[in-house]
Amino acid sequence: MLPKNLNEIVMGYIEPAPIKDKENPFESMMSRFHIASQALGLDDEVYNVLKSPAKQVVVSLPVTMDDGSIEVFEGYRVIHSSILGPSKGGVRYDMGVNLDEVKALAAWMTWKCAVVDIPYGGAKGGITCNPRQMSKGEIERLTRAYTIAMIEIFGQDRDIPAPDMGTGPREMAWMMDAYSKAYGTTVNAVVTGKPLVLGGSLGRVEATGRGVMVSTLVAMEKLKINPYHATCAVQGFGNVGANAAMLLEERGVKVIAISDISGAYYNNKGINIREAMDYRNQNNGSMSGFTGAESIPAEDLLTLEVDVIIPAAKEDVITTQNASDIKAKLIVEGANGPTSANADAIINDKGIMVAPDILANAGGVTVSYFEWVQNRLGYKWTRERVNRRMDRIMKESFERVYKASLEYDVPMRIAAYIVAIDNVAQTYKYRGGY
Ligand code: NAD
Repeated sequence: MLPKNLNEIVMGYIEPAPIKDKENPFESMMSRFHIASQALGLDDEVYNVLKSPAKQVVVSLPVTMDDGSIEVFEGYRVIHSSILGPSKGGVRYDMGVNLDEVKALAAWMTWKCAVVDIPYGGAKGGITCNPRQMSKGEIERLTRAYTIAMIEIFGQDRDIPAPDMGTGPREMAWMMDAYSKAYGTTVNAVVTGKPLVLGGSLGRVEATGRGVMVSTLVAMEKLKINPYHATCAVQGFGNVGANAAMLLEERGVKVIAISDISGAYYNNKGINIREAMDYRNQNNGSMSGFTGAESIPAEDLLTLEVDVIIPAAKEDVITTQNASDIKAKLIVEGANGPTSANADAIINDKGIMVAPDILANAGGVTVSYFEWVQNRLGYKWTRERVNRRMDRIMKESFERVYKASLEYDVPMRIAAYIVAIDNVAQTYKYRGGY
């Protein structure tokens, strides 16, 4: 039974629960889950199954430090759902890691995999540590200790870790090796995001940016924006932002502003993205001092007079403080959680289309899935095959979400949650509980 005021709830005029403006991503995610569940008419049983994680594991990891002392680290793995298949999600190394954060990110992974219809559930892991203050040897011992502590959780058919903040191909190689040694056989499908020589996939590095590009182009088609006449501003010039900017530039879009932690850079003739990437690569990863554009205040980037903005840096950057000043017709969320739930209402009011994070940045997990498929097949795909298949999945997923947004008369974000929750709920109904 749909609530009477559903339309107001969905459009964000009425919040399902009071939300502070500075939200944590978990609250934002849960409020959208709640709204989408109501729109779908999800029954209580399934709602309760999906509301909380299936499994939460906390481990203590004693590690010998370089000075001979022993430090004990706390490690987590939360499996939110294995309804669609083995759970999938990154492992984060950061001092801010805690069980609540890992729980939120695990649920997020469930929706992300479900919206692009790949046969994975959602999980997330983490260790509370500061990798920047640890030696390579200390990080390696910590990674191996974590893998062994999770040996019964991880598995190519059970739960498959991947990189996240503070981890990368190097840590994935150690995890794969520790796991394989424990079982006495090479199991490279147990983690994704591995170095190429260990079974990593071609196209993985640029996959998220590429998915953002595909989502942007499909959304432009819906809005009847010609890419050759379109302008774009990209916040964050790292893996996701820079690759998205480069691929969009290749398809005719004029990227007139970019930004990173050092500031924002504007050129109304269009920034030469290759040049900007070369500059960043030779400048310790920073755009500071870039002369291919003029410096503008960082906070102006998202409110520039452009057709598209792509927040691809961090969470909570579009809030009630700046949402009403946004002039773009389209927001494509490269980052996770860049828009607060309260800002949704303003954006919907202004008629701005949003390609939401769980859809727009799902290119990364899609190619992770391809990595796993290739490992299981014992075969390597070409970059062209990876890109072609990913483009197809991204396009089809966008179309599914767009169709749901028309059918339920809801914004794209809620539609993405509807598609994802419906996928998991329908599967759960067939599989059942006890
Ligand atoms: P990254 O570390 O490669 O790049 C982040 C960029 O954002 C850097 O250029 C940094 O300088 C910039 N930045 C940081 N704070 C900023 C600020 N306040 N204003 C402007 N720029 C700022 O990270 P990434 O891998 O590109 O990830 C970016 C976002 O995309 C994150 O939210 C991440 O969770 C999300 N994401 C990444 C992937 C992936 O495959 N890499 C997949 C899905 C989602």
